[in-house]
Amino acid sequence: MAKTYDVIVLGAGPGGYVAAIRAAQLGLKTAIVEKQWWGGVCLAVGCIPSKALLHNAHLTHLMTHRAAEFGFAFDGLTADYAVAFKRSREVAEGRMKGVNFLMRKNKIDQYHGWGTFDGPKALTVALNDGGEERIEAKHVIIATGAVARLLPGTKTGPRVITYLEQILSDRVPKDIIIIGAGAIGVEFAYVLNAYGTKVTMVEYLPSIVPLEDEEVSKELDRQYRRLGIQVITSARVVSVEETENEAIVVYEKDGKEERLTAEYAMQAVGWAPREDTYGLASTGVALNSRGWIEVDSRMATNVPGVYAIGDATGIVQLAHVASAQGIIAAEAIAGRPTKALDYIMMPRCTYCQPQIASFGYTEKQAREQGFDVKVAKFPWVANGKASGLGETAGFLKLVTEAKYGEILGAHLIGPEVTELLPELTLAQQFEMTAAEIGHNVHAHPTLSEALMDLAHVAEGMPINL
Ligand code: NAD
Repeated sequence: MAKTYDVIVLGAGPGGYVAAIRAAQLGLKTAIVEKQWWGGVCLAVGCIPSKALLHNAHLTHLMTHRAAEFGFAFDGLTADYAVAFKRSREVAEGRMKGVNFLMRKNKIDQYHGWGTFDGPKALTVALNDGGEERIEAKHVIIATGAVARLLPGTKTGPRVITYLEQILSDRVPKDIIIIGAGAIGVEFAYVLNAYGTKVTMVEYLPSIVPLEDEEVSKELDRQYRRLGIQVITSARVVSVEETENEAIVVYEKDGKEERLTAEYAMQAVGWAPREDTYGLASTGVALNSRGWIEVDSRMATNVPGVYAIGDATGIVQLAHVASAQGIIAAEAIAGRPTKALDYIMMPRCTYCQPQIASFGYTEKQAREQGFDVKVAKFPWVANGKASGLGETAGFLKLVTEAKYGEILGAHLIGPEVTELLPELTLAQQFEMTAAEIGHNVHAHPTLSEALMDLAHVAEGMPINL
């Protein structure tokens, strides 16, 4: 006989596990099914281990490039990537166990195995320990994520890899061609470069991190070239092949074909929908033309009682957005009022060096939307704490509507900017203006006071500039 639940969540990534917790908190009898990655790609092989590696890489960079500036001298410095890798796995594994703990704490039944739908609200789970379990529910939440997209006509192999093979490797290559300069591309480029890999990035669009504000992209481009990372933009990769010893990447630029070779090529060209190996077709949910699951603002699909969240919906493929969608889905199932997400205003953080954090419209997009745009900029070189840290590259940029000061977007590049964004997103959400941010007294000396300085610039009365 099938076990029955109010809610079954398929997939325990940052969308799924959060949805399960909120459903349980709202009094719903909840189960969650996951084959291997409790916490999803994010905790296991994405956001979390990469942050550990990025921290190691930054320390390595400081020691190899800036030691004298801080008064360090070495007789033969070693930077052991295998140790950085081991640390990254320990961090990831600790967080994954934390998810299992949270499931137990919230009395959520955990099914460790591969779940396959055989109807919209029924699943068979092939348990990792052997045997199978059939489970049914009044509601299901599909949180099955996405997979790394590969360029058409290409495949992975020993020399052609994705983020996954590199993040699970304890060594860095001699040289690598990274295809795609989005978040994954620039984060891995920084790590590998710091550990001595010769990195070449090939990006189809005219700039690296091409979705960011143009000035932010330009600044990162400048910093990356300074680090010795080779950046090739406006270049479309047309083939990726391999021999026993090397990867061969051919790209088109200015109407000409060019060929690159390296020990490895990494494809970082976005996510693709997961192949239907989990019975999705039997649920009857509608997909859009690009193969993502279609949902409304309450995360409901076209099939009553079936919800979908996170990367599987292809809307904004970020962990924190998946978690927010998970809470909405659980609240909708529990009959609670929900607040639709404003996807334009979702925070976006890239952990390259210098870090990038942004939300809302870029300056160009705001103008295209027809706003009367006012732009304020404040450089990190004018912030005392940043000077003390020796991290003065980059700037903060605020895009507002000229007449009423409505916040349309913010684009930060510089030290720890990923930690500074929430003040601005909160201000935007509660319709505060730059003037109100300027009135908020910020402690001195902090990186966050640069936000107050930025607001003063927006008001036309800068203090520290
Ligand atoms: P992405 O969409 O961010 O970047 C892919 C890049 O590949 C784009 O800039 C695109 O122009 C380029 N590209 C596509 N086809 C190409 C071609 N033929 N030749 C050259 N370049 C080409 O995707 P990603 O970096 O692979 O990341 C995947 C997902 O994971 C994204 O949704 C990303 O936001 C998310 N992610 C986020 C973070 C973070 O927030 N810090 C970190 C890692 C991944």
